[in-house]
Amino acid sequence: MEFQFDLIVVGAGSGGLAAAKRAASYGAKVAIVEVNKIGGTCVIRGCVPKKLMVYAAKSKKNMDSSEGYGLKSKGISFESNILLKNVREEVSRLSNLHRSSLSKLNVTIFEGLGRFITQNELEIICPKTKKILNKVSSKKILISVGGIPKKLNIPGIDLAWTSDDIFELDRFPESILIVGGGYIACEFASIFRNLGTEVTQLIRGQHLLNGFDKDLSSCLEESPTFNEINIISNTQLNSIKRVNGDLESTLDSGDKLLTNNILIATGREPNLLPLNLEFLKLKMDGQYLDVNELNQTSNANIFAVGDIIKRPNLTPVAIEQGRVFADNFFNDLKRKVNYENIPKAVFTIPEISTVGLSEKRAKEIYSEKNIRIFKCKFTPMSNTFKEKKSKCMLKIVVNKLTDKVLGCHMFGETSSEIIQMLSISLNAGITKKEFDITMALHPTISEEFVTMYS
Ligand code: NDP
Repeated sequence: MEFQFDLIVVGAGSGGLAAAKRAASYGAKVAIVEVNKIGGTCVIRGCVPKKLMVYAAKSKKNMDSSEGYGLKSKGISFESNILLKNVREEVSRLSNLHRSSLSKLNVTIFEGLGRFITQNELEIICPKTKKILNKVSSKKILISVGGIPKKLNIPGIDLAWTSDDIFELDRFPESILIVGGGYIACEFASIFRNLGTEVTQLIRGQHLLNGFDKDLSSCLEESPTFNEINIISNTQLNSIKRVNGDLESTLDSGDKLLTNNILIATGREPNLLPLNLEFLKLKMDGQYLDVNELNQTSNANIFAVGDIIKRPNLTPVAIEQGRVFADNFFNDLKRKVNYENIPKAVFTIPEISTVGLSEKRAKEIYSEKNIRIFKCKFTPMSNTFKEKKSKCMLKIVVNKLTDKVLGCHMFGETSSEIIQMLSISLNAGITKKEFDITMALHPTISEEFVTMYS
């Protein structure tokens, strides 16, 4: 059978765009299918617009606490409509940049919903009219449709927002209930609170950010920002109803809360349903598509990258998976994705960043007696003249037997920039002794990483 394309990519998010561009750069005939704006979760409704909002929140926080530096900034106002409009314009600009780089590489863009009709063919459907706009065929198909927010199965859930809705707002609410204690919940709690919204955060467990090193979540819970957030722990949301213009939440304790709006941030799941995959009987790994090391599904011509496979659901991971896929199948480079020491950050204010093993995980793997912890917590110099002084915390997890650094964790300003650089050292197998013989750069926060002795 003759195919129209060498590769069709379904989903123009980080992973799909990376694969399409790399494959096209090798001369492959490539098409990409997208139902929304080009850019996917990261560019359109995730990392990029969120980080721009973090910068707004940081600016406001700095202004609010700059009196000690002699700056008279009391009474400054925040116009959320201006921020939201500017963020949307920037997102559109970036989306258009991706569109033009695809066209420079001669990648054909099909706008609509991709649905499998055979293992090599897709229908492109108009999401509004449901009409078939096109039928396209390809030798290989890469699925990179990303994830969607998980919804709680409770009465009134459709009244609540997901993170997608935040970017479409005209103005920020005066009060909000945020459900969840993970990345999205903590980042938006921090953005909203620092920009003046009253925030209540509901978590089903005891602590924020389960899965991160315990010292990191403790630092966040003790921080000035989260001290201003009403955190209700060990509780679930039972139902939501509208009361006049507000939303009333009923908790499993029977308690009721009244807020302007509710944000549900209880995880995300693969967006596979619209693809009509059932007849292909692809092997699944729970709700994710099962893939081998080459990102190949159980059908040898169908591949998957990004948030639809059971790997860390992070933009750089999806990009690397997309590039490695293209390198292997369109340039025979025989590459593999390196899943070791993936750095992670939660962009609260201050931010949390981490690479490698948490103290708990290191002790589980190597036994408690073989792990050595180096830790320091202090008020950074930048907070000297501030009224509310957030502390920072740096922590190194070391294997006593080999002296290898297994994990580095940091709570504090610019920690994401510092941990990104430390991830290179961990990947190279750095030892604690090598940290110790590295000269400090003074006065910085990160110098503590090379001056910590137990
Ligand atoms: P997370 O998995 O980070 O957090 C989900 C939160 O919801 C947890 O606190 C979890 O509680 C809670 N939860 C799950 N189910 C329920 C339930 N039924 N009732 C009440 N609470 C519940 O998911 P997010 O939605 O925050 O983010 C999704 C993914 O997106 C992240 O895992 C990450 O991969 C990515 N992301 C990355 C960012 C970054 O790199 N900075 C930013 C935003 C997203 P518990 O802890 O008890 O399980």
